[in-house]
Amino acid sequence: MNIALIIPPSPGRTNIIRMIDCSHEAKANYLWQPNDFMIITSRAEPDDDVQFVDGTADALDNDQFLELIDAVRGDLVIIALSSVCWESDYAYFLKVKERFAAIPLYVLGDIFLEEAYRRHILEHCDGIIVNPYVLDLRSLATQRKDRTGRLSGVCITADGPLFPEGKRAVAVTSSPPRHELFQKTGYRFPFAMHVRFTTVTTMWGCPFTCTYCSDSKFPPILRSYEDVLRELVHVANLGIREIFFADKVFGFNRKSIDPLLATMRERFSFSWSCYFHPQLCDRNLLQDMKAAGCHTIIIGVDSADVRSLKRYRRYTEREQVERVIAEANDLRIDVCADFILGLEHEDEADILRTIEYALEIPIDFASFNIAAPLPGSDIRRSMNEAGVLKFGREGFDTCGRSGILGNRNITARRLRELRKTAFRRFYLRPSYLLRRLRRTRSVEHLLIQVQEMISMIRKI
Ligand code: SF4
Repeated sequence: MNIALIIPPSPGRTNIIRMIDCSHEAKANYLWQPNDFMIITSRAEPDDDVQFVDGTADALDNDQFLELIDAVRGDLVIIALSSVCWESDYAYFLKVKERFAAIPLYVLGDIFLEEAYRRHILEHCDGIIVNPYVLDLRSLATQRKDRTGRLSGVCITADGPLFPEGKRAVAVTSSPPRHELFQKTGYRFPFAMHVRFTTVTTMWGCPFTCTYCSDSKFPPILRSYEDVLRELVHVANLGIREIFFADKVFGFNRKSIDPLLATMRERFSFSWSCYFHPQLCDRNLLQDMKAAGCHTIIIGVDSADVRSLKRYRRYTEREQVERVIAEANDLRIDVCADFILGLEHEDEADILRTIEYALEIPIDFASFNIAAPLPGSDIRRSMNEAGVLKFGREGFDTCGRSGILGNRNITARRLRELRKTAFRRFYLRPSYLLRRLRRTRSVEHLLIQVQEMISMIRKI
């Protein structure tokens, strides 16, 4: 069987990351690998041919992209679309559809967390992929338009819940993805110590419930230690030394993570980074992660007033945030902290407090995000109820370059200015630059960081 995986070019050659659970424009020079597509390759049979066109990673123009699409031979086509550049992506979707009129065509993307977009796209394609780990690709290629049946991991009707089982954790078995297909030079990871890297997932979805985040809608999908180990052997055999663990919260499933970390320490010499949740902070876990090669964790701090986030069903305490940062510093693990500016209840004073807090705590990177009506989030629901959003007009992004809405206490313009201020005050401190220099491990590491910094400055 021939399987075609397609990512359209992004407007202005921006680095837009398209995933089932979220989509965003890179805040610096980086571009994540398309993790959902990587997982989908793990569902292919060994003799299946997977053709992959990434118009964004390869910075293709319209003609180059369509030339490659015309050369694709697929029995099944899957295209990734984004809310961040919906108009452009949808136009490319129509061009792809025109070329593959007789072939089963599926989509994936964050925008389909919205019922109106599900309803619209299902008029034009065979289904929306919502869980890549349970796909049966042969059924996708043969059961087209069979809206009466069920396709595992695929949404084929617009109404009804995407995950009827709710947030209940699901265990899956899976083969290693075809990492070799995703070694394009266009992919870069901002915290990597080596330019060449790959992406591994031990848990897809998220067990937490923060209502401002699209991921809160996805149940955790758990992989076994044995499956992940087989994947790491494959990655090591490809000569890849750097890994980004794409779990939304690494370390949740200790039953699989503990033996995995022990084996990584004994058998491999990967360097790696991951997202980590302050509620999971445990000295032993962080120690084991460090011993297994972890050099950077990304944590959600989100606000200086951590407790205020309970209204969004984020139940973290400030002590947990400060403890994970202290433990990581002690173990010489770098910390990137995510912050959100302009949540619905915040005013300018709240935002300024968050910026001050980012300057006070000993962290290595800060990601300042603008609160946005992300598909599936409660912010989006409120905006829809208030009639602010119009179908087809998207482009809202946490990066803050487009589609800032502001809230009832602060204007979009002021929010954008505050994000710039936050960036300048955090990254342009001599003490910060000295800390980064002290923590840079090699010339390759330094070059990656300098490129990211230059790109961030340009974007600001
Ligand atoms: S823990 Fe992170 S990924 Fe999970 S719902 Fe909360 S913000 Fe989203």
